[in-house]
Amino acid sequence: MFATLRGLARGLLDAALPQTCIACGTWIPAESGVACPACRAELLLDLDRPACRRCGRTLPPEAIHPGGCARCRTEHFWNVSGVARAGLYGKRMRSLLVDLKHRGDERNGVFAAELLVAAVRRQAWAAEIEGLAPVPMHWLRRLQRPCDHARILAEHVGRRLGLPLVRLVRRVRHTPSQTGLPSKHARFANVRGCFAPAGGLRGLATWPARGPRVRGRTVCIVDNLMLSGATVCEVAKVLRAAGARRVYAAVVARPAAPGDAPTSAGGAIGVGADAEAGPAAPSA
Ligand SMILES: [Zn+2]
Ligand SMILES: [Zn+2]
Repeated sequence: MFATLRGLARGLLDAALPQTCIACGTWIPAESGVACPACRAELLLDLDRPACRRCGRTLPPEAIHPGGCARCRTEHFWNVSGVARAGLYGKRMRSLLVDLKHRGDERNGVFAAELLVAAVRRQAWAAEIEGLAPVPMHWLRRLQRPCDHARILAEHVGRRLGLPLVRLVRRVRHTPSQTGLPSKHARFANVRGCFAPAGGLRGLATWPARGPRVRGRTVCIVDNLMLSGATVCEVAKVLRAAGARRVYAAVVARPAAPGDAPTSAGGAIGVGADAEAGPAAPSA
């Protein structure tokens, strides 16, 4: 309720005040859209940086192979067939996603979803997707946040791509933010067993009401951010157990991690910097 009132107040303020850029906060003329030219250019540039098709890491072209990069080929937990990511986690991307997550800013949700749509359309598997599965938020966390950001993203992307939402997975454990955890191992331990089948499908369109709900279908998990991939791989486990034929993932940002091959992309903020950022830290 407070979140709704807050959203209403923000909407009124937005209508009364000149617009600011969703990524850097500078004032922009109304006709500029939601982002200033510099931020828009940088965020769109990230879309075209080469990335591993299997895990979404941004890498130099020579490090990318059809079967995955050197990192993901050693990650035996990897259970999604491909990852579409819109960009890295630079200052502008971070600001865009943090405001979506902690302020529920509608404009940020629409812009981030547009980036995601562009990232998905660049994938050879885009036409295979039959449903979108947002990473579910625990109800306790939902009480603390103004919005369910993954669901907002999935709804926008679903409308743009004409895809239904698969609400088959629910989060059964309330866990600490992934970002504050010291290691990849700790992130996996934190989300292990966190998700379970919800036994339902509510969507923008419908799949056959009878019969297996995802059995034999191709589903794409949607989230704002991928760090270790632990959260997405746990959600994929549930979808696979329900019989999904193939599972992909689409995330707005995938930050560079220690050990990733260096790229020409500048300004990316690492996971360590996020961990120190308190409430602005991502949770995937
Ligand atoms: Zn800007
Ligand atoms: Zn890879």
